[in-house]
Formats: sequence, C-alpha cells, structure tokens
Amino acid sequence: MNQPVLRLVNRPAENKLLSALPADSYERLSPHLVRVFLDRADNVSEAVQCSEYVHFPIGTLVVSIIGHTPSGASAEVGLIGNEGALGVMTVLGGSRAPMREIVDAPGPAYRVRPEVLRSLMDVDAALRGVLLQYVLTRMIEIAGTATCNAHHSVGQRLCRALLMRLQRIGMNPMSLTHERMATVLGARRAAITRAAVALRRAGVISYSRGRLIVLDRPALEACSCECFAGLTQKVEALKLTAAQ
Ligand SMILES: [Zn+2]
Repeated sequence: MNQPVLRLVNRPAENKLLSALPADSYERLSPHLVRVFLDRADNVSEAVQCSEYVHFPIGTLVVSIIGHTPSGASAEVGLIGNEGALGVMTVLGGSRAPMREIVDAPGPAYRVRPEVLRSLMDVDAALRGVLLQYVLTRMIEIAGTATCNAHHSVGQRLCRALLMRLQRIGMNPMSLTHERMATVLGARRAAITRAAVALRRAGVISYSRGRLIVLDRPALEACSCECFAGLTQKVEALKLTAAQ
C-alpha cells in the first residue's frame, strides 16, 4: 500500500537528489512525497504510474528508459537509479517525452506530481538548482549514449550496459535476458548472444535462465568501450563544478 511520507526529521539519504537538498527545501517538498513500490513488469499500470509523476528511486529500484522509432525499433537512452529521478524533464514544462520506462530492478521510490514540483521550484532556488543540474546530467548521458550507439560494437555496448547496471544496482546477480538486452542495445538477439557467449568463455560473466553474474569487473571494464568511464567522469566533473 502506498503511504504518505511522514514529516521527516532526517532526509531520505537513499536518493541522492533528495539528500542533496538543504533542510528547508526538503521540509517544503516532503509533505508532497508519497512512497510507492515499482515492480518488474512491462505492464500498463506501471507505465501509468511513471507517466503521471516524477519518481525519486530509493534502495534497489533501477528503471531503463527506452526510446523507439515509429516502426517499433528500440534502444535504451537512460538508466536511472537512486542517483536521479524519473520524469524530471517535466520540470522544464510541457509534457513528458514519449519513451517507455521499464523496471530493470524492482524497488521503492518517492513520487510527486510534476506540477507540485514546478510550483516549489518557482519559490525555491536550491531545489531548482539541484533539479536543473540533474536535467543537464541527463542531457549529457543521452548525448553520450547516442554517440556510443553510433560508433561502438554490440559487444562493447553490452559491457557498457552491464557496467551501468552494476553501478546503479550494485549487486549480482542481475535479472537480464538476451531478449531484454536486445531491446536495450537496439541489436538483434543473435548478436547479443554472440557477445554474451564471448564474455562467458572469457570468464567475465556467467548466466543461466535470465540470471547474469559479473565474475570479473576489471575484465568487463577492459572489454567495454571508453564511454562508461568517460560519462562517469563528465558527470562527476559537473557535480564538482556545481559544488564550487
Ligand atoms: Zn561506447
């Protein structure tokens, strides 16, 4: 059951955007936050939940943002865990981008109506600063993903996608099928299978029945393109610049 968030003495450190807010900003926002749980499924109720609110993932929740062409081809354009927020582009005004949001790892989140968030941003410079900086982070990530998809092999991109999941989920094993990875990478399933078999033979990963375990993270980093490390550095540099 969804429970309203009680007026908290301590801010929820589980979400890094919420924990970055000054105490008075969080005090204004917290009465509007409702704790929910997003489960793993591509079902309608989940899509409706995601489309009507801004969600701040906490704990283990990780959501994959999938873009698609008019003919139905798809590719992941974002992976959001407790470092960020879902639907945050709506703070810029207008409606939400037409993308699918698929729960990659189930978990809880705090959600708030976007119009409430926008009205609070009008009167709270600190909240506005934290959210707009995160919007900039998302734009950097989307640009990096587009560049990676255009230039790097399926095998390299598979490694990048696994590293992104390790960074956000922070645990093994992952629940990940070849079919899901084909959707994420915008590649044919046969190409995903070839890349996964090569990683398994090299002792980098193991997988069985949709459960994937990273056995050798340094080797996974070596097999990946430079995009994971490059994007991580850019996002950290942005945080340092904002903190100065
Ligand atoms: Zn790349």
